[in-house]
Amino acid sequence: MPELPEVETVKRTLNDLVNGKQIESVTVRLARIIQRPDDIQAFANLLAGHSIVKVERRGKFLRIVLDGLVLVSHLRMEGRYGLFSNEDPLDKHTHVIFHFTDGTELRYTDVRQFGTMHLFQIGEDLQLPPLNKLGQEPLEPSFTPERFKQIVSGKSTKIKSLLLNQEYIVGIGNIYVDESLHRAGIHPEVGAKDLSDDQLNQLHHAIVSTLAEAVNAGGSSVKSYVNGQGESGTYQQQLLIYGRKDQPCNHCGTMIEKTVVGGRGTHYCPSCQRKADN
Ligand SMILES: [Zn+2]
Repeated sequence: MPELPEVETVKRTLNDLVNGKQIESVTVRLARIIQRPDDIQAFANLLAGHSIVKVERRGKFLRIVLDGLVLVSHLRMEGRYGLFSNEDPLDKHTHVIFHFTDGTELRYTDVRQFGTMHLFQIGEDLQLPPLNKLGQEPLEPSFTPERFKQIVSGKSTKIKSLLLNQEYIVGIGNIYVDESLHRAGIHPEVGAKDLSDDQLNQLHHAIVSTLAEAVNAGGSSVKSYVNGQGESGTYQQQLLIYGRKDQPCNHCGTMIEKTVVGGRGTHYCPSCQRKADN
């Protein structure tokens, strides 16, 4: 599933591709992608005639801002956008097509069909599901070490589960939580409230630097993620721990292990990330 760096990359490429384009009509080929409004014809009718102003991101969601409307889009497992000419052949997994007045079209393709779109009047979207309960953005200046300590404070949840909870901090998924915990030398099953001040500072730094570096690399291409222009990110080449089971830790040479924490596959170095040290 794309996480913050991948969605941020899609956001940036979409801004280059579709800003200023006016929607002439919309074709919905798979109704279940459209979560709001209930009726796909109403969805299409509402969007017709509107122009895309900019594309933003909130957590792992894209906010496609139009004049007067906001389309909130979650790519889930394998959703992707691409800009095409209206003469290009359609992929059988293309489910939503935004036809622009200039003869191009933005196509949403999703092999797994788990992606969602919610359409709102502008200003409404941040007050209603799915965006209304989202927590702190980790790459904004407001995410200080102090803010991080407030979020973690008093919570007995395993630190990995806490970091994955989008109501606390948004955008971090399984890849970047494993990377951040490894960089900070913290075992994924340690209770959040048991982390020392020092560890929280290190973890804060690890989260911010890992996400920022991944954004700079265009995200990680694991499984089938590509950005809005069909290009793959390169951060997977820099991953220190995720996906490296039974390979030696770059730091200490110990074999990386994989376990399950909170139902999620979890990579860690048993030597660098000791439970007993916490
Ligand atoms: Zn190690």
